[in-house]
Parts: sequence; structure tokens; C-alpha cells
Amino acid sequence: MVQKKDIDWGSLGFSYVVTDKRYVANYRNGAWDEGGLISDDKVVMSEDAGVLQYSQSVFEGLKAYTTADGHIVCFRPDLNAERMYNSALRLEMPPYPKDKFVEAVKQVIAGNEAWVPPYGSGATLYIRPYMFGISPVIGVKPAEDYQFRIFVTPVGPYFKGGARPIDIKVSDFDRAAPRGTGNIKAGLNYAMSLHAIVLAHKEGFAENIYLDPATRTKIEETGGANTIFVDADGNLVIPKSDSILPSITRRSIHYVAEHYLGLKVDEREVYLDEVHNFREMGLCGTAAVICPVRAINDHGKEIVFEDNNHGVMGPVLQKLYDTLTGIQMGTVEAPEGWICQID
Ligand SMILES: *Cc1c(COP(=O)(O)O)cnc(C)c1O
Repeated sequence: MVQKKDIDWGSLGFSYVVTDKRYVANYRNGAWDEGGLISDDKVVMSEDAGVLQYSQSVFEGLKAYTTADGHIVCFRPDLNAERMYNSALRLEMPPYPKDKFVEAVKQVIAGNEAWVPPYGSGATLYIRPYMFGISPVIGVKPAEDYQFRIFVTPVGPYFKGGARPIDIKVSDFDRAAPRGTGNIKAGLNYAMSLHAIVLAHKEGFAENIYLDPATRTKIEETGGANTIFVDADGNLVIPKSDSILPSITRRSIHYVAEHYLGLKVDEREVYLDEVHNFREMGLCGTAAVICPVRAINDHGKEIVFEDNNHGVMGPVLQKLYDTLTGIQMGTVEAPEGWICQID
């Protein structure tokens, strides 16, 4: 056991802290090099690097934590490896091998063991893999050389003092075009969302809900989280669209709902004008796992999710949340292959 850092884990926020080690691999002359841990947190690159000119970059996000019985683990990193592989292909980047990705995640967690928050603190170690075009480009084309990196940063409990349901608004902007890049995890999808999120915050909303750009009648997702709904019968309805980012949390919730809780799960197109029939709405992603939504504001008209309207998460979301976080923390038995042990 290494000596843990002297940090008040419970009062950490969600912000970047420089830790001891990061993983770096370089793609040069048509091949990825061996890669390994380094201490230098700075990236030095050409002023004309592909990432700086044409935003050629993709990323991932996952967490490591200490389980009830004292092991350090992370959750389904093979799915992050696969998603980043697909993201890279879409942006004409050489994909990082999936087995090496998982190996690199394990190495960088082990190299920062002192930064992994203890069990029960509510804090976790956030892991950020990413890759970008590093060689100069001036004509519009893919870079020749790339860098793959992973840094980690300890983050506090997402909800301090319990998950309070949030209000979100229907955005007048679109997130992802049909046949565009909505289904990959690329920085470019976030750059264009910043204006909309700043506006939403100014108007007092926590997030934007985006509609499908083609018809503006169907629910897509928020800026950084997929959505799930609970219908009047207590079953799960999950929006389906080719431009929704395939959230690992959402896919895990789908499985947990069916196989642990015996719920029916309907993954289908969900229309804005039917959501008033639903009793609960949740946002799902690695950061919060599930964040309850109290109401969607559609241009002044409120659509309230009644079971989230009493200051706490509705009962079905709560069961999903407890089961999935129990699986992650080692208090509920996990499906085969979901938990990746580091130590
Ligand atoms: C990362 C991300 C999510 C959540 O995915 P997880 O794998 O569950 O963390 C949802 N939507 C968007 C747009 C994202 O970038």
C-alpha cells in the first residue's frame, strides 16, 4: 500500500489537479511506439499541429475507485477502448490498439495509486485518455503523426448531499447532424456546444436537451449525457438515434434494468410531445452515473417528471443508481468482465 496523498477527498470538486504520472505513446512513421509513463505534464508541439488547426482530436472518460474490500478497479475500460477506436477511424486518425489502451489505463492508475480516493469518500479518480494530430498540416488533410495520452485527476462526489433533480431546457441549437459526428467522442462536438451551455446557465438551467436536427421533434441527448425515461408502468424507455453518443453508463443501465431489476426496456425513437407521459427522466454518464431531471422547459412550457418533483430522484432511477453503483463499488455482484482490477 502506498501512502495516499493528503487530500480532503470529500470536498474535492470536478476540476483538474496535476498528478504524478501520465501515459504517453507516439505515432510516427506509420506506427505506434511502445509508450509508457512519464512525469512531465506539458505537451510540446508544432504551432501548426493538426489538432490546433483542424481539431483532429478524440477523447474518452472513465473512473477508477477503491472497492468495499479495498481493491482499486475501473469499470468496463474495454468499451472505452472500442469507442475511442471508432472515434479515431471517423476522424482519419490511426486507432490506438484496444488491448494496449486497456493496458495503458491500468498502468496510469497503478502509477498514480496515491491519488485514488479511498472507499466511502464518494470521490473517484477520473481518467482521461485522448489522442490528437501533432504534426503540421496546412492543407486540409489528416496529420501524419499523433500522440495518445492518458492523465488522471481525483474528483469529488458528483452530488454533495444527495442528487437533487435539475431543470433543463430545449436548446434552439443542434448538437449533431444526421450522419455527422454525434456518435463519436470528439472535442469538436463540445466546442460548438459551449455557446449553448453558457446561454442555458445564464437562463438558470443546468443543461440543454437537444432535439434531432432533421425534424426537431425527437429527443437526442444533452451536451454530455444520454437520457433515460421511466414510463407510467415503471419500465425504461431509452431514446435511439444514430447521432447519440453510445454512453457506456446508458448501455450498462439497460443491462441492469433487464437482468437485475426485471424491467422492460424499450429502446426507440422518443418524441418530445410524448415525454409528459413519463414519470422520471435521468441523464446518464460516467461523471454522475444518473442525474435526475425535474423538468424540461420547452420555450416557457414546463414538462414536469412527477416522480422527480419532490427534491429527490424517483424510485426507479434510484434502484438503477443503487444497483449500478453497487456493481462498481463491489457490493453487488458484477456481470462477467465489467470490473477491471488494478491491484
Ligand atoms: C461521454 C458522453 C456521454 C456519456 O458516456 P459514458 O460512456 O456513459 O460516460 C454521453 N453523451 C456524450 C455526448 C458524451 O460525450
